[in-house]
Amino acid sequence: MIYSEYLIDGELVRGQGDVERILAPADESVIHELADASPAQLDAAVDAAERAFPGWARTPPRQRGYLLLKLADRIEAAATELGTLESRNCGKPLQKAIGHEVPAVADVFRFFAGAARCLPGSAAGEYVAGSTSMIRRDPLGVVGLIAPWNYPLLMAAWKLAPALAAGNTVVFKPSELTPLSALYLARLCAEIFPRGVVNILSGRGASLGAQLSGHPKVRMVSVTGDIATGQAVVRAAAGNLKRTHLELGGKAPVLVFADADIPAAVSMLRTGGYYNAGQDCTAACRVYVAESVREQFLDALVQQVSTLHTGHPEDERSDFGPLISRRQQERVQGFVQRAAALPHSEVLVGGEIPDGPGFFFQPTVIAGVRQDDEIVQKEVFGPVVSVTSFDDEEQVLAWANDSEYGLSASVWTRDVKKALRTSAQLQYGCVWVNQHMTLATEMPHGGLRQSGYGKDLSLYGLEDYTSVRHIMISIA
Ligand code: NAD
Repeated sequence: MIYSEYLIDGELVRGQGDVERILAPADESVIHELADASPAQLDAAVDAAERAFPGWARTPPRQRGYLLLKLADRIEAAATELGTLESRNCGKPLQKAIGHEVPAVADVFRFFAGAARCLPGSAAGEYVAGSTSMIRRDPLGVVGLIAPWNYPLLMAAWKLAPALAAGNTVVFKPSELTPLSALYLARLCAEIFPRGVVNILSGRGASLGAQLSGHPKVRMVSVTGDIATGQAVVRAAAGNLKRTHLELGGKAPVLVFADADIPAAVSMLRTGGYYNAGQDCTAACRVYVAESVREQFLDALVQQVSTLHTGHPEDERSDFGPLISRRQQERVQGFVQRAAALPHSEVLVGGEIPDGPGFFFQPTVIAGVRQDDEIVQKEVFGPVVSVTSFDDEEQVLAWANDSEYGLSASVWTRDVKKALRTSAQLQYGCVWVNQHMTLATEMPHGGLRQSGYGKDLSLYGLEDYTSVRHIMISIA
């Protein structure tokens, strides 16, 4: 079921802005025509959230949590509808959307429902004679939430759950390319939350996203997206010095040492390099392999990647589907063509747009590329893995850290000392050892450098949506 209404001030209303054609990336058909929200509708949503804030902030965490649990139950009950919308709108394999993503979404709401009730902090005490000090963590007010297109529903959960659990009211904007699951969520939220607490509307980043980021009544804006988008949001946020929470891209290095379990590393790359067509900020896309095991590693990788099946989302054999758009397909093709034209590189698998409709791209391995090459430095956000060989630990650590991104990395070795030594020195928000891409809702997800500085998931994620306050009481 495709809905066309936004949730503004407790009412389900149609957009009054320009009409967007929502495409199915698998066959380029128009799934839906949806009017964007107008600037006046965004203002109305912010006003509604501002009015709802005092009541929601005072609602005991237990009751806020119960509503989040109710939402999780409703999401789980609607797994087939939500997974189908997500699959059609993003081109994700249907079974993965229903079986992997929707349960992860419900889990995030359940985690934050409980976390709302146990915010940690310093003990109250007499730190100055005659005065008792205590710490409070309070919500900030109206929070603007802006999501990308790669995991529309999951990113909605990562933002809505901690913001609401902490007692903020929200205005949520999905990507204009993938609004359909958010509109379904709007229906569910309309039945669960008090008027104005949750507002959901869609529209373009450059217009509505910018308006939300610059809005004087919005106290914080949280965005997952491109580095350039993060920079634009920070500039817009400067107007009222609102807090920003940024989850930007990634270019995860994968360090495969000579003593690694090569079949395990290759098996992970078959999944971690290509899951969601590589449109994942933690994708295992930048491999460094020890020179001494290079040949053995590449043979195994080529064999494994050649077994990947790219196809229609409803085909159960599909490991991954199309890219999100023609623009993204052309962008990925451009990266691959420029890398393939280098005298020292070699495309070992894939590298092409397959025949037929849809924004597909073949699973691709490019070997022989060097540290300074664009394909090693820039985020491709497609099903493309680059392989560079290294001589020693010092060199590979320097190369791995030589990146404008700092989201995640992995180390593959059987030597526990090497694993600990290298993971300590890798300047990444998350370092996996002998695995890659596994998330735990209880653990933080977020980057360093230009990957941004917000933490999603975990109690750290909840704390990001609160302000720390000190109350001091004279007891003399
Ligand atoms: P994008 O930056 O184009 O868009 C993200 C969102 O920002 C969309 O809702 C868009 O409408 C909005 N937006 C665009 N311009 C804006 C502006 N000037 N002001 C306010 N909002 C604006 O990103 P995308 O193409 O949708 O997603 C892909 C990017 O997201 C990749 O770079 C990827 O690495 C990153 N990403 C990061 C994480 C993470 O956790 N670090 C997770 C998923 C995706």
